[in-house]
Amino acid sequence: MTTLIPVLGDQLSFSLSALEGADPTTSVVLMMEVAEETGYVRHHQRKIAFILAAMRHHADALRAAGWTVDYIRLDDPENSGSFTGEVARAVVRHGPTAIRVTEPGEWRVRQAMESWEAQLGLPVEILPDTRFVTPPGFFAAWAEGRKQLRMEFFYREMRRMTGLLMADGAPIGGQWNYDAQNRKAAEASLFIPRRQGTPPDAMTQAVLALVAARCADHPGVLAGFDLAVTREGALAEMAQFMRSALPQFGDYQDAMLAGEPLLWHSLLSPYLNVGLLAPLEVCRAAEAEYQAGRAPLNAVEGFIRQIIGWREYVRGIYWWAGPDYAQRNALAAKRPLPDFYWTGTTDMRCMAEAIGQTLNLGYAHHIQRLMITGNYALLAGIDPHEVHLWYLAVYLDAFEWVELPNTLGMSQFGDGGLLASKPYAASGAYVDRMSDYCGGCPYDVRQKTGPKACPLNALYWDFLARNRDQLGGNVRLAMPYRNWDRMAEDQKQALRASAAAHLDRLDGEACSG
Ligand SMILES: Cc1cc2nc3c(=O)[nH]c(=O)nc-3n(C[C@H](O)[C@H](O)[C@H](O)COP(=O)(O)OP(=O)(O)OC[C@H]3O[C@@H](n4cnc5c(N)ncnc54)[C@H](O)[C@@H]3O)c2cc1C
Ligand code: SF4
Repeated sequence: MTTLIPVLGDQLSFSLSALEGADPTTSVVLMMEVAEETGYVRHHQRKIAFILAAMRHHADALRAAGWTVDYIRLDDPENSGSFTGEVARAVVRHGPTAIRVTEPGEWRVRQAMESWEAQLGLPVEILPDTRFVTPPGFFAAWAEGRKQLRMEFFYREMRRMTGLLMADGAPIGGQWNYDAQNRKAAEASLFIPRRQGTPPDAMTQAVLALVAARCADHPGVLAGFDLAVTREGALAEMAQFMRSALPQFGDYQDAMLAGEPLLWHSLLSPYLNVGLLAPLEVCRAAEAEYQAGRAPLNAVEGFIRQIIGWREYVRGIYWWAGPDYAQRNALAAKRPLPDFYWTGTTDMRCMAEAIGQTLNLGYAHHIQRLMITGNYALLAGIDPHEVHLWYLAVYLDAFEWVELPNTLGMSQFGDGGLLASKPYAASGAYVDRMSDYCGGCPYDVRQKTGPKACPLNALYWDFLARNRDQLGGNVRLAMPYRNWDRMAEDQKQALRASAAAHLDRLDGEACSG
């Protein structure tokens, strides 16, 4: 009686539901590096290296804990290249009587798993992924019957459920949310903590060589790879963040500075998303910093909200909205993704900075993703599906359950407001307020029209004007629409002509590319 337990690349946790309760003496864990997963979008080289290196280290940790692990490498000559093909081969090798697996983080893979029972003629048990704060079914029950889904109300439920930053049933400090204090712009003269990074060991070096050989045509660079690839390493990175950056995480959460990819952000999402860290342990560690008086409430509340609030909320939306969510395009945006998203070669300095660091590191922080690359795509009317595929490919932490709702829902308003109450659209003034990018840009952020004007200024008004049918009734946009209506007709025309000139140039570049 052997049970086959496939463990996927983002299931690197000992607390995985498929392992819990299984008997190591009668089970075989199957881990698979397959070309279909590394290549169904052209993932950033660093992301592939991170996942494969973390998988190989996790396989060793499982073996040390007494599990039998059958590990299929990407360059194994017999490798069929897909999960289904590898599970089928493992069934022949091990002759299991059943397959037990934890549900994946993507509809596409879930559908493949659901076909295994019929294809392989074995019982297949697909267990819920219990590594999240919300128990299975919680989000659907919470969303049931609500006219509108809003993260803030979901988040309060999560605070009550976890007891994080709560005292006698009320939020510590008297408020649920301290975001109003978390919008300071940063100065380059501030002391910015430096992440130390984790040098690659021999096993990781071998993976880096493999990825360099097989994925040279993927975006990104491997040089300088310094991510942790074990649970111990991830715990050390977490401890370092808590000590050095958390205290100012809140103040500068929305700030951007040229040449400073991380600022006070944690870079913990890759570890959380592959399972090397658990969301509640990270939140409890942050709460302990507040309780010890080492980090202020606005920082700790803001950090915890991202994890028990946004992270859980977007996951809830992903599964609740169904497999067709990826096809939504409420604003009927059709423009192809400009080539410069893959090269970083653009004279808009904000875009060059955000894309450049993304291609180098596989990382940009939230405001860069939302208010630089996301905002530009929204204003320029780029097809949200193409935008989604870019985000899925280029970020270390991108797994569809978390990437898609953030991109298509929050950033591109492709779901028409299911996730967010208004589009995150901004002109150059926002970028100028929250960053130092505009100082070194050939465009002038104060000019609204003409060849020297910041393109975002005209694009912003053009976005509102051309989407009025869909957005005109949104109460949160009442003020900008009033401002638009009050503008002189020639000013409106000049703005729309400037936007059209920019978009024509963009279309020309796309055609010539
Ligand atoms: C267009 C777009 C695409 C995104 N794609 C992804 C993605 O593929 N994977 C991903 O994990 N996050 C994604 N995010 C959310 C967020 O940008 C990243 O989680 C964050 O930048 C990760 O960096 P960090 O660990 O330094 O985060 P920090 O700023 O230090 O935040 C702490 C933690 O909070 C969580 N978090 C913060 N914001 C969000 C959010 N909106 N949704 C989910 N979790 C959040 C992350 O786990 C993160 O590690 C996206 C956001 C946008 C706007
Ligand atoms: S001027 Fe406009 S394009 Fe240039 S950095 Fe500022 S916001 Fe970006």
